[in-house]
Amino acid sequence: MFRTQTCGELRIADINKEVTLAGWVQTVRKFGSITFVDLRDRYGITQLLFSEALNDQLDASPLGREFVLQITGKVHERSNKNKNIPTGDIEILVDHFSVLNKSITPPFTIQDDTDGGDDLRMKYRFLDLRRNAVKKNLELRYAVNRATRDYLHQQGFMDIETPFLIKSTPEGARDFVVPSRMNPGEFYALPQSPQTFKQLLMVSGYDRYYQIVKCFRDEDLRADRQPEFTQIDCEMAFVKQEDILAMFEGLIKYIFKTVKGIEYTEPVARMSWEDAMWQYGNDKPDTRFGMQLLNMKAPAHVFAQKDRSAALVDGAGFGVFDDAETVLAIAVPGCSEYTRKQTDELTEWVKRPQIGMKGLVFIKYNADGSFKSSVDKFYNEDRLKAIAEAAQAKPGDLILILAGTEERTRKAISELRLEMGKRLGMRKDDEFKLLWVLDFPLFEYDEEGNRWVARHHPFTSPKPSDIDTMIGNNPVIENAATYLSHPYANIKANAYDMVLNGNEIGGGSIRIYQKELQQKMFEALGMDAEEQQHKFGFLLGAFEYGAPPHGGIAFGLDRTCAILGGSESIRDFIAFPKNNSGRDIMLDAPATIDNKQLDELQIKIDLK
Ligand code: ASP
Repeated sequence: MFRTQTCGELRIADINKEVTLAGWVQTVRKFGSITFVDLRDRYGITQLLFSEALNDQLDASPLGREFVLQITGKVHERSNKNKNIPTGDIEILVDHFSVLNKSITPPFTIQDDTDGGDDLRMKYRFLDLRRNAVKKNLELRYAVNRATRDYLHQQGFMDIETPFLIKSTPEGARDFVVPSRMNPGEFYALPQSPQTFKQLLMVSGYDRYYQIVKCFRDEDLRADRQPEFTQIDCEMAFVKQEDILAMFEGLIKYIFKTVKGIEYTEPVARMSWEDAMWQYGNDKPDTRFGMQLLNMKAPAHVFAQKDRSAALVDGAGFGVFDDAETVLAIAVPGCSEYTRKQTDELTEWVKRPQIGMKGLVFIKYNADGSFKSSVDKFYNEDRLKAIAEAAQAKPGDLILILAGTEERTRKAISELRLEMGKRLGMRKDDEFKLLWVLDFPLFEYDEEGNRWVARHHPFTSPKPSDIDTMIGNNPVIENAATYLSHPYANIKANAYDMVLNGNEIGGGSIRIYQKELQQKMFEALGMDAEEQQHKFGFLLGAFEYGAPPHGGIAFGLDRTCAILGGSESIRDFIAFPKNNSGRDIMLDAPATIDNKQLDELQIKIDLK
């Protein structure tokens, strides 16, 4: 037997037991004639004590870091106990040892706070994975995985695998493609998601499907994206939106409970897409804190501010506000005493290219109720007070205002809000706030092509009340300047996203299941009948054979784990991730292939 116990198992109750352990040498400490070794495996660390009697043997075969060691000895109570580890009350008095394998010196130390930089850790990921910090993340991922399977199994879902070598599934990214040797000149696409397959499974009658599955998207890797990532992919037949929301609210709460021990009892909050955009400036608001946006030039349809807004900034002669398409403000709690240096620093922050604003206006609502602002010249105390009230500021708050084009300003203030929330400690890793964002627009306007693109994907159904608008109107946009007044601009989708602490962790929709509506959708996206047939003939065909009403959702497993683990980076929760340029630096992939392989594929490389 290689071992009788693991390195995480022995306690004071095991004293005097004869044990055999095997593991890796974490540290070797020699004190005169005795030597202490910390032996590590997946389960923990146990201290070994080599007495003088083993000195000669140790000298003959010295131990080094990461050597694989097997020992036999007796469990012994430690005089100097270590309260920080579960085995800290005991040590093993070693009788025999044998080195099962040596290790060369690792390129970084295998401990919680390692000295290895990111690249080094990724190059030697198999060593990095020995570290406790990384192991904990993979354990959490496994717990989420198991909880998911438990819950979905209890709910009657079936795990059904779908193929990886397929034809394109549009999810808004580029496909990774794989050449087919047997069909020269033809390519498979790797699935961006199993979307069409899970819909076909509904047509086949498997009315509750799930899969924990890899998806592949060739996109420019913005921070914290991976070209291959894992989804908890689900689909149900004979359901309405409410059924899906209830089922998957259940899943996420079950995960919270089993993985984190958190009882998330209240119903998950809901917000329309439009409110999310106006109140928080983005469609995945972090609702752990308030600091909602005040739209100082709100269009009339925008929620409750409509009465107050226009008067707030217009007519005072301040060109920056008067000429701007949009003026947005937040009230930052308790920051009215910011110094000049601090407000200057914030101004620089919003001027950074990533944020791209020209400047920042601030109003200090002092604790004594007075005001001091960078626009005192234009706005008297009464107007400043009106702004403060509209922004729901309290004495002691600092109101920050950005002005510019609508899209950029909204994005910038939303970033500023998140940044201030972070600086003020309002975005706590151990607080979890879930939110459903609902009622997304079905289409997005693509300026370049002057056409509609699907906001979610082309299989998402419009709200039932918008179906007639969709069927009854020509999707062509005659005049780019007035695209917003095209009837399609206001069509809402039966789509939903689940947001956790400001991150989209899941998204889905009720699907189109009628052939005619699906054809209209494809047409709206600029596909003629021939292209529809070429790309999605199989789906349109299937819809002719009794497709049931259906809908589904997919959760990003990597990101969900990262948030539950209190980390910013999904890479920490993937055993073998790629770097920001999509490279696996351990394998050194992607890589060229040899001429023989190219010949077999009948492919000639002619790089541009
Ligand atoms: N396939 C979608 C996605 O990957 C999710 C869904 O609609 O179920 O985003």
